[in-house]
Amino acid sequence: MTANSSRYRSRAPRSEDAEEKDYVGFATLPNQVHRKSVKKGFDFTLMVAGESGLGKSTLVNSLFLTDLHKDRKLLNAEERIHQTVEITKHTVDIEERGVKLKLTILDTPGFGDAVNNTNSWTSITDYIDQQFEHYFRDESGLNRKNIQDNRVHCCLYFIPPFGHGLRPIDIQFMQALQEKVNVVPLIAKADCLTPAEIKKLKERLREEIDREGIKVYQFPDCDSDEDEEFKRQDKELKESTPFAVIGSNTVVEARGQRVRGRLYPWGIVEVENPSHCDFVKLRTMLIRTHMHDLKDITNDIHYENYRAQCIHTMTRCVCVCVCVTHTRTRNARHSRALNR
Ligand code: GDP
Repeated sequence: MTANSSRYRSRAPRSEDAEEKDYVGFATLPNQVHRKSVKKGFDFTLMVAGESGLGKSTLVNSLFLTDLHKDRKLLNAEERIHQTVEITKHTVDIEERGVKLKLTILDTPGFGDAVNNTNSWTSITDYIDQQFEHYFRDESGLNRKNIQDNRVHCCLYFIPPFGHGLRPIDIQFMQALQEKVNVVPLIAKADCLTPAEIKKLKERLREEIDREGIKVYQFPDCDSDEDEEFKRQDKELKESTPFAVIGSNTVVEARGQRVRGRLYPWGIVEVENPSHCDFVKLRTMLIRTHMHDLKDITNDIHYENYRAQCIHTMTRCVCVCVCVTHTRTRNARHSRALNR
């Protein structure tokens, strides 16, 4: 079979019984799409932002069970005074039951670390715009088939657990990014807080996010025909935001099992225990339930806004050029007529 014919291969009905006579075959369409997507693989770009030391790298390692930051150089206080924000990129290819995922993690070291943090998010917003620009250029070019999608699909923003709510830098960062990327705020190092403190901080953060008009990523509404269990999980997920997370790079022994956790003199905090933190909820949301929605929103809303703006600017430029040419031609004609 040629490569081309295999592209259109679908399972045809074999027996000719009465029921299958009415069978046209389009019911196999989801299978065809599924097979094609699995073959092509998936990609996802995740950005982490927040002050250094809030546990960004540890959380990413815990989420994807990789060690993405092993050769990271940590700066001392003096070096950080004048530090500018840079974007570092790590890409890993993960495979699970034959499904390939190209995961890109963008770290933003230096954000919020300098003495003066005014506009410290501009290099982050510029980076996101640059990825949109590349995609726009590739999409308008000749080779549209093999476009590499480097657009940022989600930004996990780490809020310190120590304060009494959002700090000015948190508000300004999220407002600067809200129209460009799906922002998911997180309460970092949640093991520093008691359950009552976490509840209070979550309520406060939700209130402040509403009051400041910050547009964080909104979970889509559940379809009415979904089963009750799915609806319950969805409700629980929405009520748990902003997720309070804990990360750990070590495996410890708890209740006779080896688990990812943090060992303290008074006990063990388990990263994947839902009664200890929202790590599992975050992982479920990011990987199992909402990855596609995050990509759709990136493409249909954030990128579309960027594209519309570009086309608007380009159309205005073309109009100005046409007007200038028109005026020049008219003036030339006019002066020729005068000289005659
Ligand atoms: P980053 O600079 O934001 O990437 O932070 P790191 O991931 O390098 O973590 C900084 C320090 O915080 C390390 O000593 C980690 O072991 C510790 N850490 C990471 N996650 C947690 C957490 O959830 N709780 C606590 N208590 N400490 C954490």
